[in-house]
Amino acid sequence: MNSEIMKCKRCRLHETRTNAVPGEGPMDARVMFVGEGPGKKEDEKGRPFVGRAGELLNEMLLHADLSREQVFITNIVKCRPPGNRDPREDEKKTCSEYLSRQIEIIKPRAICTLGNHATSHFLGVGEMGKRHGRTFQVEQMTVIPLYHPAAALYNPNLKGVMKEDFLSLRKILY
Ligand code: SF4
Repeated sequence: MNSEIMKCKRCRLHETRTNAVPGEGPMDARVMFVGEGPGKKEDEKGRPFVGRAGELLNEMLLHADLSREQVFITNIVKCRPPGNRDPREDEKKTCSEYLSRQIEIIKPRAICTLGNHATSHFLGVGEMGKRHGRTFQVEQMTVIPLYHPAAALYNPNLKGVMKEDFLSLRKILY
């Protein structure tokens, strides 16, 4: 599927991307992390979460006793929206077919959504409110909404909240 994504032209985002970012991780990963879409660094490198937000995600994974190599990391849209704008509804709808196929193949025990867009895709509501760090059952999938690491870069108070959520992830997954 990766090669299909790399040359995909199914939505307008292909016009401005440098590289599509299918996602990475083992195909039998116990947990899948899903963000909104690639940023500038990810677009340059063709890999998910490799910028500062990615560094924070790696740090948070350690609180859940997980390494980057153990988890599958991807996004709702696989190509960077220009200027880091929000992905549009039609782009999310078209591209999330790839995500559905990834979930079908990997069959993760839990899907952790990173931020409002990814959370809204699975739960129908994006605002985190008191949902972060909790477990929701959606069509036989276990979904755990988490703050996007980029949000914690802009609001350092969130870093402590994220840490608590990742600590509780450890209990959910083991
Ligand atoms: S965002 Fe998704 S659907 Fe759109 S061109 Fe990229 S891979 Fe294809």
